Amino acid sequence: MSQEHANPFESEGQWLKCALHTHSSVSDGTLPPDLLARAYEDAGFDVLSITDHWRIAEAPSTDRLLTIPGAELGFDLLKPAYPRQSAEFLVWGIDHLPEDPGGDRDNWCFNAEENWEVRTFPSLTDGASWATGLGAVVYVAHPYWNGLSVEELRESEGYVGLEVFNGSAEIETGRGDSSVWWNALLADGRTVFGIGTDDQHYPLFELGVAWTMVRAADRSVEAVLEALRQGHSYFSHGPSIHHIQANRDYVEVTCSPARSVVLHMEQEYGVSVTIGRNGRRMGRILETDSAGLITRVSLDCDHEAAQYRRVSVIDESGAKAWSNPF
Ligand SMILES: [Zn+2]
Repeated sequence: MSQEHANPFESEGQWLKCALHTHSSVSDGTLPPDLLARAYEDAGFDVLSITDHWRIAEAPSTDRLLTIPGAELGFDLLKPAYPRQSAEFLVWGIDHLPEDPGGDRDNWCFNAEENWEVRTFPSLTDGASWATGLGAVVYVAHPYWNGLSVEELRESEGYVGLEVFNGSAEIETGRGDSSVWWNALLADGRTVFGIGTDDQHYPLFELGVAWTMVRAADRSVEAVLEALRQGHSYFSHGPSIHHIQANRDYVEVTCSPARSVVLHMEQEYGVSVTIGRNGRRMGRILETDSAGLITRVSLDCDHEAAQYRRVSVIDESGAKAWSNPF
């Protein structure tokens, strides 16, 4: 394997259910920060970051919900794809924003009616450099929805990962799943992690659509930021991954009931096990629930030189969970 990362399923810590991309009425979301925090707390989340557009919303942590200051910021595209000249990244662990981030003013705008603002850094690399210099963590927001080119991501530095699944982009436009961008970067041999989010603006439709499970050393802002930096996480809009044991020639996965489990590798490689009459089995089902759905499976990996390996779990409704590369 060219990439080896610590396996969060076999490391110390606790799993925290995180909402990492949400909007409050401080920008174009509908709920004020305190009510948004209560809504996520009531929905069973452990961690919330309100990532308003060019604003830092304040919501204090409670006994049950840890809040992390964050924002959704803009950058000018090196390779503009009409009609977009700019795109967004998510940043967590900052407490202030630059008045003038230095990008092209033609790409800045303020929408008073919907209460959102865009300013831009000259590039993703510049924005990530500013944020990481403050100890913050950067992931690129919704590449598929933005229409980012893979080349833009290849030529940029400083981000830790991608928002691989964006729930509201999936619901509204069918452009929520950026796995293709992720696979391309992983196949380059680059270390890039993924997250899943709601990008919640309207809680009635979008709260709890997708989330990121973070394996944090403890329930603190710094521990969650460090887990995001290290990719100690998986993300989902349905199923749970309970355990992954990665061996050289097989990968064992324990999960909530699934109809299919896939081991992803580059290009034509990759294997899967699927239940049912037309199910394909490149591995062995080790345990099922009473309905015959997979709860533990061993996937054969005969591609020793794999550039990357990651797993996805698909439940009966088609909802998916994604592991990071391991
Ligand atoms: Zn957003």
